[in-house]
Amino acid sequence: MTGDGTRAVRAGLPEPRANEPALPGPAFAAHYHLPGEVSGPYTYGREANPTWAALERAIAALETPDGPGPAAEAVAFPSGMAAISAVLFSQLRPGDTAVLPSDGYQLLPALRDRLEAFGVAVRTAPTAGDAQLAALDGARLLWLESPSNPGLDVCDIRRLADAAHRHGALVAVDNTLPTPLGQRPLELGADFSVASGTKALTGHGDLLLGYVAARDPRLTAAVRDWRKVAGAIPGPMEAWLAHRSLATLHLRVDRQAATALALAEALRNRPEVTGLRHPGLPTDPAHALALRQMRGGRFGCVVSFVLPGRVHAERFLTALRLVDEATSFGGVRSTAERRGRWGGDAVPEGFIRFSVGVEDTADLVADVLAALDEAARP
Ligand SMILES: *Cc1c(COP(=O)(O)O)cnc(C)c1O
Repeated sequence: MTGDGTRAVRAGLPEPRANEPALPGPAFAAHYHLPGEVSGPYTYGREANPTWAALERAIAALETPDGPGPAAEAVAFPSGMAAISAVLFSQLRPGDTAVLPSDGYQLLPALRDRLEAFGVAVRTAPTAGDAQLAALDGARLLWLESPSNPGLDVCDIRRLADAAHRHGALVAVDNTLPTPLGQRPLELGADFSVASGTKALTGHGDLLLGYVAARDPRLTAAVRDWRKVAGAIPGPMEAWLAHRSLATLHLRVDRQAATALALAEALRNRPEVTGLRHPGLPTDPAHALALRQMRGGRFGCVVSFVLPGRVHAERFLTALRLVDEATSFGGVRSTAERRGRWGGDAVPEGFIRFSVGVEDTADLVADVLAALDEAARP
């Protein structure tokens, strides 16, 4: 069994062949030659593409649990939302019940509306305290997001998955924030690991992508079939760039986690900062559980905290020199935003979601502290 970095640099690469590149370039093809009615994996571009296939092998290698049992298989999508929709709409039927987190990604309420319009009953409960346990009776699917975005609460995935399975429900975990190097939901008993590859997985803020990983081939077949029917297919260029990015995943997430922790430690001493959350912070309410179920000290790149009101938060964001004001997270360049600007999350006006990049830790912490000083000046 090799280490995570060793796995990441070779994940999904073909066997080395003389005079061939290590990672073959993107295959741009709407259709493939089919002389004499040959069959094979590549017929029409909506169904399969060798560039997706290589990326899917790579992601599957990273999501596959250690120990016995089948390997994971992955299906790539053009965005995280396409991946999430593929699981929900391939698995749920009218009359089914789904349990979603009440504090998950901001588009989950919009998905809830769509599911209900198709006759699926939806219940929600918060991530913290494993509150979704109480909503499992008669459920067909349990959707978890841990750590949750943007509140950074953590739930006990194994405990919830075991309970859901006892109720006959499938379990999906949104693994966007930790990436498979920080958490392996399939190893914790989930049936699906689903993520936006737009964020930390690819990490350069230059593409959108998503994926679904599962160990049961019937589940991946259903998701793959949904992709074909919905036509929600990733571009070959994006898939290739994503695959290229995976070789540095361990370097990025390790640096981001270390700097996020240093930033959170520095923010602890600031009187104007309240509601500070980062699962790697030993004083965080989610830390003990995160330490148990997350991997390698990789608690993610997001630090969230609250400043005293909207104006104070806006002044802070403007005063940052090394941090771009932008939504999204997980990129190599630090970004921050006042989350309340979108209106989709139940957060205070001064709530900041800060995404730590791969800058030098000392530079970034100094920039944040200087911006806090500037924002506090009368
Ligand atoms: C961004 C995000 C998504 C949606 O992914 P897109 O690639 O933007 O479609 C889903 N879940 C979480 C936790 C996210 O942060």
